[in-house]
Amino acid sequence: MTRLYDDPASFAEDMVEGFVAANPGYVRQVPGGVVRSRRARRGKVAVVTGGGSGHYPAFCGVVGPGFADGAVIGNIFTSPSAEDAYSVGRAADNGAGVVFSFGNYAGDNMNFGLAVERLEREGIRAHNVVVTDDVASAPAEEHAKRRGVVGDFVVFKVASAAAEEGYSFDEVVRVAEHANDRTRSLGVAFDGCTLPGQDHPLFEVPAGRMGLGLGIHGEPGVSERDMPSASELAKILVDGLLAEAPETGGTPRVAAILNGLGATKYEELFVVWRTASRLLAEAGVEVVAPEVGELVTSLDMAGCSLTLTWLDDELERLWQAPVDTPAYRKGTVSQPETDESDVDEELRAPAERVTVVAPAEGQATAAVVVKALHTVADALRDAEDELGRLDAIAGDGDHGRGMTRGSSAAVAAADEAAAQGVGPAAVLLAAGDAWAAKAGGTSGALWGAALRSFGDLLPDHREATGGDLAAGAAAALATVQRLGRAEPGDKTLVDAMVPFVSELRAAIDSGAGGAQAWQQAAEAAAKAAERTAELRPRTGRARPLAERSVGTPDPGATSFALVMGRIGEVLAANTAA
Ligand code: ADP
Ligand code: MG
Repeated sequence: MTRLYDDPASFAEDMVEGFVAANPGYVRQVPGGVVRSRRARRGKVAVVTGGGSGHYPAFCGVVGPGFADGAVIGNIFTSPSAEDAYSVGRAADNGAGVVFSFGNYAGDNMNFGLAVERLEREGIRAHNVVVTDDVASAPAEEHAKRRGVVGDFVVFKVASAAAEEGYSFDEVVRVAEHANDRTRSLGVAFDGCTLPGQDHPLFEVPAGRMGLGLGIHGEPGVSERDMPSASELAKILVDGLLAEAPETGGTPRVAAILNGLGATKYEELFVVWRTASRLLAEAGVEVVAPEVGELVTSLDMAGCSLTLTWLDDELERLWQAPVDTPAYRKGTVSQPETDESDVDEELRAPAERVTVVAPAEGQATAAVVVKALHTVADALRDAEDELGRLDAIAGDGDHGRGMTRGSSAAVAAADEAAAQGVGPAAVLLAAGDAWAAKAGGTSGALWGAALRSFGDLLPDHREATGGDLAAGAAAALATVQRLGRAEPGDKTLVDAMVPFVSELRAAIDSGAGGAQAWQQAAEAAAKAAERTAELRPRTGRARPLAERSVGTPDPGATSFALVMGRIGEVLAANTAA
């Protein structure tokens, strides 16, 4: 049970406020999360962790000297937005770039991915290191598909220590990825956790039973068995991880974490560790600076997990390096931290977008873009109910609402940008950011990024050609696939986008004008969107109810075709005029 809260809806925000009030010497609040209250030295690579909340001390509890420069804090068990990750990354940057590290979940991958793109556009180097340590969540040959659980802690720690030692950006990324390759976790649950304001746990484990291979967001275990004794459990965990030991050579040395998930007592953990440490020694494995306690929790979940990282000299040094943070301290941090007066405040301030007034050709293209966005927003408002109905059949019914909110916000931002005389790329950048910030949902993040990528290929200094449109559409598709990782046939908007892009390219290459080629491509997209009715979703929120969706076209593909059709009409009217 979570008994203490004021308003369940603002539980995470209220928690952050109290956390900051309790730790003013360590952290200060910025939009989207926290950063160190005293900035590290100029030129140190910033390491930023994050994810949903509900895991304290992960992730905000480990911000401070020797550990993270900042933490992005989402709602309970919910990915923070791209805007949040961008904002914290920007505030944490010490002038040498930002390495984000977080557990492998679709929402986090997408939102942190977008934050990286945005920081890079503003000239700040940024990269994501995705942690994949949970051996129960996918087979060893699919290591990259595994969830991130308590291994997060080791990877963040190692990356942070490397940055503190003065490693370059590339070297911090290298050592963080190396730590992830060497890290394995296995967890068990005796009972589920309960979200604030709810009276039922997210899952329950029958009395006398134990879930093996649980997730840290209230996902139940992948299998169930009888409740073992403490020493039997130690054996299950140690055997499970040693079976997955990476090749290291020599006497294996490991960093170890026996982690409590929130409602398991330290005393119980020590009883388990008594046997686990003996079993590891008997297996010839030397344990370096083990941690037994709560490092990554899952609200009030009852259970624990074991994490092992197979060390080499470098990883061992970084694992042992001193740390001083609200929730985790190790050794003595000697390095004098620069104080606030040294801070180049300009670095901390959010980027002001520079307005570059475009020549007449660019402003003319921008005007067509704005007209198209208005038409699109009107069409999506009319289609809102129908798109919602399609999404409700196997998804969550919010697609119409999301597209309406996103496109309306995009129109307002585009109007404002165009009024300043900027070109099409700047208009679509503003529109894309607004769309992603307001729409919510998977499709909102993808549409925002797609608009920006498309705009990047429209010129300011001459009229846009059909070739520019085809190149822009191809870039938008590449962005959507990079972020969403959907393939044709997965029943997503990619199924309408792929034929659109290839038909547009083919029509342009065979001599059609931009407007005519676009209309042909939009027809191909409409047919492809209808054909998605035959498919079963293999990704996204509709996947668990895949069968129900057969016979109904994909909402995202349907709205894509609708939008392309309307843009075609605007282009045709514009060419005729
Ligand atoms: P959510 O699924 O988050 O509720 P929406 O309902 O707004 O978001 O959008 C659903 C649409 O998003 C789906 O119909 C599909 O076309 C698209 N979609 C979902 N996941 C992906 C993905 N990984 N790549 C591309 N498109 C996706
Ligand atoms: Mg939806």
